[in-house]
Formats: sequence, C-alpha cells, structure tokens
Amino acid sequence: MIAIAVVAALILVALKMALSRKEVSETEEVRGPMIHMSGIYSIVRESPRKGLAALRPDETAIRRFLDGINEDINGAPIRYSEREALVKYWKAQVELNLQEIEKGDESGAAFYYYGYSWPCPVCNEFVAKGNFVTREEIYNYPHIIPPFHLGCPFMLNAHHGADIRLKGGTSESDMAPFFDGEKPPPIPDWINVVSLPAGAGK
Ligand SMILES: [Zn+2]
Repeated sequence: MIAIAVVAALILVALKMALSRKEVSETEEVRGPMIHMSGIYSIVRESPRKGLAALRPDETAIRRFLDGINEDINGAPIRYSEREALVKYWKAQVELNLQEIEKGDESGAAFYYYGYSWPCPVCNEFVAKGNFVTREEIYNYPHIIPPFHLGCPFMLNAHHGADIRLKGGTSESDMAPFFDGEKPPPIPDWINVVSLPAGAGK
C-alpha cells in the first residue's frame, strides 16, 4: 500500500516536472525571438557616425578639391572666404544631421524626413522636402544622410508618431517615402558646389 502511494507520488512529481519544463520551454520560445528582435533594434540604432565618415570625403580632400575650382555650379566665382565658409558649413551640417539621428534614437523617432533652410538647386531633382526615410534605411544606406554636396542645405528631421503631415502643413501628401523599393534613389555627388547665401556658414 505504502509502495503504491510512493509510486503514485513519484508519478505525480514526474508529471509536474514535465509540465513545468513544458512551461519553461514555451516561455523560451516566446522570449527567443524577442531577444533576437531587440538585438536587431539596437544594431539599427547604432550611431551612423562611423559608417558615414567612411563614405564621405574628409576635410583635407574637400579643401584640396575646392582649391582646384574657381566657380560653383552656377558659374559664380568662389572667393577664399567662401571656400572657408563652405568647409565650415559642410562640417556643421554633417554634425547637425548625425546629432538629429542620435537624438531621434534616444527619443524613439518613428522616421526621418528631409527639409532645408533654403531650396537647393542641386538636390532639387533628387529629393523633395518632406520625403521620409526609416531608421532601417539610414542604417542600411548611411549615404542618404545629408549634406549631399558642398553647400547643401538639406537636413534630416526626426519625426515622432504616425501623423505624416509636415509641421504647418495641411495635407498628408506633404510627406512621401523617399525610397521606391529596396534600394535608395540616386543622390548628387559631393563635388557639386553651390555658393552659400550671404551670412550662411560664416
Ligand atoms: Zn543639396
């Protein structure tokens, strides 16, 4: 009788163990992909600083290029002070764009849209104000981070939430995806020089 009770107790314990193991494995199955996903999330949100630096000319290359030209794409002469302003503006814009993405990562930006302080004659046909990109697209193609060329006023702005109307805009058509498929559209070459408006980059 005692033996039967012991066996029954053992069976119960074994069943309970099997059940609890099943519970654990179910939890692991659920937890597994979540860890995987959060891993991707953190990689995507790594600062594009290094990746971008590897794709863009450094200050020496920019100065060397500017020393070799006398006028911008519109045929306007580039004086020495304007050369300096272009270099300074380029560096400041690179930093501003990177900081915007880094801040957006901290605050959980939904996506980023392009804007500018004044219309750009070079980027005009490539990208429009309000075109937006996802963080994953920036991660995969860091060269879509402005400035695109010397004297380029384009900026990425972090956007929060699902409302895709531009600030002050009235229609939803103000914003449209920049990508038309998997690959990014073409972007102007950095050697296109546009003189800065008076006062900018000084
Ligand atoms: Zn531009």
